[in-house]
Amino acid sequence: MGLIIVVSGPGGVGKSTIVEALVARDSGLWLSRSWTTRSRRPGESSDAYHFVDRATFERRIQDGGFLEWTEFLGNLYGTPNPEPPDGHDIVLEIEVDGAQQVKRKYPHAILIFVLPPSRAEQEARLHARGDADAKVVERLRKAEEEEPIGKELADHVIVNDHLEETVDSMLGLIRSARLAR
Ligand code: 5GP
Repeated sequence: MGLIIVVSGPGGVGKSTIVEALVARDSGLWLSRSWTTRSRRPGESSDAYHFVDRATFERRIQDGGFLEWTEFLGNLYGTPNPEPPDGHDIVLEIEVDGAQQVKRKYPHAILIFVLPPSRAEQEARLHARGDADAKVVERLRKAEEEEPIGKELADHVIVNDHLEETVDSMLGLIRSARLAR
């Protein structure tokens, strides 16, 4: 089995941008597409998630179709059982409860927890992607709750100050893990 790289961190830290850059730069990586019951944000790409209603999501839970799933701020999110092309390593972009579930199932999974440079910067990024004020407040509160757990759980903690540097250091971690395999 290949590597499982789990990228986790609070909302607005830039996780989606980071994982997209990782798979764009390393052709040996395969990004899992999550299912969610959340509605699509204005301007959000239709393939950011597999968007489904709650009944469809719950049916898939019953069928054992998720590697992990959780409820996050009132919506369900889950990683379908991954089917990467041969020879590819798996990248998951999920919150900390899911990261914990993956680590329990696959202790060799590499957990990278990403932190924002500051709370102010995180808040600005949340507003910039179009979250309503109430959502921003909710996500900042959730971040306070997730961060200590994420730091404790993580194999590596990275502050996403400059995207290029963050991606470079993650690719470095992944290369070392491949060599050690
Ligand atoms: P958002 O609504 O901002 O897209 O995602 C909310 C949170 O859910 C983020 O922390 C994101 O990483 C996480 N998330 C996205 N997909 C999954 C998934 O499949 N499983 C879990 N556990 N969390 C997910």
